[in-house]
Amino acid sequence: MLDNKHIENWDFRQERLLENMSRILLTSKIFIGVIIWAVLLNTYAVFFMNFQPVFSVAYLTLYSLSGVFNSAFFYIVHTRMKESKWAMREIVKWEKIVLIYLVFSIVWGVGVSLIDQIGYQHILMLSICLFLCAALFYTSAKQMIIINLLATILFCTGLALISPYKSNYYAILYLFFLILFVSFILSRIVYNVFVNLYFTKQKWCEELENNALLAEQLQFANRKLAKQAHYDELTNVLNRHGFQAYINNLFEHNEKQGISFTTAIIDIDYFKNFNDYYGHLNGDEVLKLVAKTVDLIANKYGYITVRWGGEEFIVAGADISVERVENLCKEIENAVSKLSIFHSESSVSQIITVSIGASTGFCISSKEIENVINNADHALYVVKDRGRNSYLILQ
Ligand code: GH3
Ligand code: MG
Ligand code: MG
Repeated sequence: MLDNKHIENWDFRQERLLENMSRILLTSKIFIGVIIWAVLLNTYAVFFMNFQPVFSVAYLTLYSLSGVFNSAFFYIVHTRMKESKWAMREIVKWEKIVLIYLVFSIVWGVGVSLIDQIGYQHILMLSICLFLCAALFYTSAKQMIIINLLATILFCTGLALISPYKSNYYAILYLFFLILFVSFILSRIVYNVFVNLYFTKQKWCEELENNALLAEQLQFANRKLAKQAHYDELTNVLNRHGFQAYINNLFEHNEKQGISFTTAIIDIDYFKNFNDYYGHLNGDEVLKLVAKTVDLIANKYGYITVRWGGEEFIVAGADISVERVENLCKEIENAVSKLSIFHSESSVSQIITVSIGASTGFCISSKEIENVINNADHALYVVKDRGRNSYLILQ
């Protein structure tokens, strides 16, 4: 069931293949070790153990064949694993190569165990091969059935041919089927654990990706929120919170020296009349336009623009000369006039105009900023009183 479900999952198949290939590297080393051990045993056992191993050309042929085969597989798998690109076609091809390796190992185990019947009457090598395949390789049920069927046919036929009259024939057969059964169950457990681990890992990765995305969205929302907290929604210039943050920041960096500070309060003349006559929505558009115009000039001077109240804006900055403040005020007056927004209800002009009260002062602490603002406010009051559409700088 699992095989059919995941057969189209190429990522899964690639991971399974890579695991199996790394297992080939491991088992080929084990087999080469076993061969070296068998050669040493056959050569030296007689000297140390009073034991004469059975020697036959068939053993020699099989062990040499296994040595060559495992060395060749080690080399080709090792070379291929160094490269990383895996096309679907290549995955299918290398799955077949892995299957060939498993079939060869089992057939080899059958061969050795059949020869073992002559001298020793055991099936140790076939058992080792079956258990290695089951425990180390991730094979589908179908592949495992094919391999086991092949082993059964070859072993039973071989056994019948080699020892038809031996008394332990059925005992060997019984052992063979027991080992076959246990190794098959083991292979299914190993494979299912692998499949479950793979898909749990996939799920975790997906969740991690989702979490990273959520964190990014959260960060973006936080930044947006922080911006919203400091900016006026209608005019997009700073609000009072933004102004306070600017002042705090300014004094954080100039705590000891203090700073020269300039404020210009810009107030639209007869704006209530404009709203009453042209409507609140048109009034909003005027506020946006005036804010944008003022902000452009403020930026040029390196100052900030703040929406201070309904139709009042503040332009503020550190270290400024009275001459520059005067230029700033003139530029703002001219720029707003140039907008030529018709205002028939203004008593000072036929277009929208502004009155500006400005002030400069040296401040040791952020509290002293209030004095500069109050002075500017007072200057604005004077300008309004004198008839509007003008500016005044108080020091
Ligand atoms: P003055 O020349 O003395 O400054 O007169 P004014 O009418 O401009 O001043 P006043 O303080 O009497 O009125 C301010 C007006 O600003 C009142 C209100 O309708 C308008 N206002 C305040 N906030 C907004 C806003 O967000 N949108 C609009 N369209 N109008 C606003
Ligand atoms: Mg006002
Ligand atoms: Mg006004």
